[in-house]
Amino acid sequence: LAEQAGADAIDVSAYGNVGKSIAFTEAPLVHEPGGFLPFAKKAKAALSIPIIAVGRLELDQAEKGLAASDFDMVAMGRKLLADPELPGKVMADRTADIRPCIYCYICVSQIFINQPLICAVNPRLGQEHRDDLIASAGQSKKIIVIGGGPGGMEAARVLAERGHRVSLWEKDKDAGGTARIAALAYEPNGRLIRWLHGQLKALPVELQFGKLATVEAIQAENPDQVIVATGAARTAPDIPGKNLPHVFDGDQMRGLLFGTDPVAMKKLPAYKQFMLFCARHLQILRSIGLLRVLSHVWMPIKKKVVIIGGGLVGVELAEFLQERGRDITVLEPGANLAPELSIVRRSRVIYMLREHGVALHTGASSIEIKDSVVIFE
Ligand code: SF4
Repeated sequence: LAEQAGADAIDVSAYGNVGKSIAFTEAPLVHEPGGFLPFAKKAKAALSIPIIAVGRLELDQAEKGLAASDFDMVAMGRKLLADPELPGKVMADRTADIRPCIYCYICVSQIFINQPLICAVNPRLGQEHRDDLIASAGQSKKIIVIGGGPGGMEAARVLAERGHRVSLWEKDKDAGGTARIAALAYEPNGRLIRWLHGQLKALPVELQFGKLATVEAIQAENPDQVIVATGAARTAPDIPGKNLPHVFDGDQMRGLLFGTDPVAMKKLPAYKQFMLFCARHLQILRSIGLLRVLSHVWMPIKKKVVIIGGGLVGVELAEFLQERGRDITVLEPGANLAPELSIVRRSRVIYMLREHGVALHTGASSIEIKDSVVIFE
C-alpha cells in the first residue's frame, strides 16, 4: 500500500502489545538484537522501493544484511546517542573507538518522566552546545586517579584529553571495578569497560593495575591532584544470621565469582576452593566473557538462593543466577523493587524475573537467616 501510495522508502519497525509491561522493549524499542531484521527482509523481498532496517542493529549485522541485500539502508537511534560520531568512525575504519550503547534504557526512560535526554555513557548528550566541556587545560597537572571502575576510567580519559599527565591506579589486576560484576549480569555493560580501557591505552595515561593506593605511595609521587573514584563503601545490614557460612554479602559475592576474596572463598567446601584456585590460576576468572559462558556450567553457588535486597544489584543478580538455573527468592524491605533502574529497564527486568518464576517479595520485614531457611514477614 505504501509503495502504491508513492512512498520513496520504508522504515521497517513494529509496535508492541501495550497490555504487557515489557511492550516498549518488544517494540518499537526492541531488546532483541536485530529483532526487526526478519520484517525488513520480508519487506525487501516484496517491494521495489528502498528498505530501511532499524532496531538494535550491531554493525556486523548491518554490514551482513546490506551485503546480502536484505535491506538498503540502516537507521540507528540509541547507538547515535551513545556516540554521535559513529558514522564517521565507521568510514574512517575506527570501529574500536565507537563508544558503545549499553542498552540501559536511561535515555528513553527520560520521556516517561518528562525530562531532557541524557545518556549513561555519553555525558555530552544534550550539552553539545557547551564547547568548553572538554577544553584543553591551561596548565598541565600531574593527577593520580584512584579506582579503575567506569568513573575512574572516564575521569582519567577526560583529564588526559584535556592535556593533564594522568596515572590511574587500580588495586585489582583488571579494569572495571564493580562494573565487572554488572557485566557478568548484563553483557552490554562489559562493552563499556572494554571501550574505556581501550581508550586509556591509546592515550598517554599511565595504567597501574594491581596497585594499592597508600598514603606513602601517593606522597612519593607528589601529584598536583588526586581523584578518588573508588566507588561507594557498602555495609551489609545487620540481619540476624548474616555471619553464617552460607551467607555472602555483595562484595563477597563479587570476590567469590572472580576468585579475588580469600575470606569469602574460605566459606566454601575445600573442593570448590580448589576449583576457584585453579580457575584463577589459569586466568579464566579474569575474562568476563569466558566467565559468563562457563558460569552456565558451574558456579560455587548452590541451587536455592535467597537475595536480601531487591535494589538494582539484587534484581540484576537475580537475573544472572536465574539464567544459570538457580531457584531465586528476592526479599526487599522497601515498597518497590529496583527503583534506581531506569523505568524501561526496570519494567523489563521485573517482568522477565516473574515470567521465569523468581519469587519477588516487597515489604519484607523481620528477616532472619537460619541454617537452611530464611524467615521473614
Ligand atoms: S542511555 Fe543507555 S540505552 Fe540510551 S543511548 Fe545511552 S547507553 Fe544506550
